Amino acid sequence: MTDPLTSWLQRGAGHQGPVALMYHSVRRDSGQPAWPWAVSRARFREQLDALRDHGWHTVTVDRLAAGADLPARTVAITFDDGYVDNLDAVEDLVGRGQCASWFIVSGSLGAVPAWSDPGRPDGRLLSASELQHMAAAGMSIGSHTVSHPRLTDLDDAGLAHELSASRDMLQQATGRSVDTLAYPYGVWDARCVTAARTAGYRAAITTRTGWALRDGDPLQMRRLTVFNTDTAASVLRKVALGSNEARTGRLLARMLRRFGDRALPGRSAA
Ligand SMILES: [Zn+2]
Repeated sequence: MTDPLTSWLQRGAGHQGPVALMYHSVRRDSGQPAWPWAVSRARFREQLDALRDHGWHTVTVDRLAAGADLPARTVAITFDDGYVDNLDAVEDLVGRGQCASWFIVSGSLGAVPAWSDPGRPDGRLLSASELQHMAAAGMSIGSHTVSHPRLTDLDDAGLAHELSASRDMLQQATGRSVDTLAYPYGVWDARCVTAARTAGYRAAITTRTGWALRDGDPLQMRRLTVFNTDTAASVLRKVALGSNEARTGRLLARMLRRFGDRALPGRSAA
């Protein structure tokens, strides 16, 4: 059962354009994971079911970037880094006829991540053969660079290497064209966009919130984040609002303020 506020938001959802959602790790352990970027598998399944039951179509980021002929409620589900626990997510997606896009760090393929991230659960990253199976199941494989650096810190040669070498290696590993990129840490600038285009990417995604194609540039797509605390209902509110801020208390306060502005003539909206 969806609560009244979320149902009301969903009634008008999907007309401002497609949205993208970012996941990282999906944990089998019961309860809420401690790492903010991990979700429990139970919650993940509930979120997939909720999106499907409310008429949301899943597409890959490649299709999103192509833009044409997208239904009104379109969501691109994405995974950054490529943790091995994502194989559970693939099974859950395939079972529901849904798809998602992965952004893989080519320098740590099949290995423990070579970059640090405090609080991250232990475990290796997906291997080449696992990526091949995922691609064969309709999932999209994109690049998340070679070593997961902050791209804006690199000189031109380093930037070009991170983008080109990862694309080459992932194309070799999967036997498929790799045309999409996720900027590590969501950090990018105009120089990164130019370098991504030069390296042959047709689409690149950030962590700036909003409707995915709001800026009209497939190399600067926007994306919403799913955190460990998110429920099926909060994910539905996020995709309806195109925002990470989907806590009911805040939303109700905002709606009441707007209602008050309308109900009291002469009072101007802040
Ligand atoms: Zn990452």
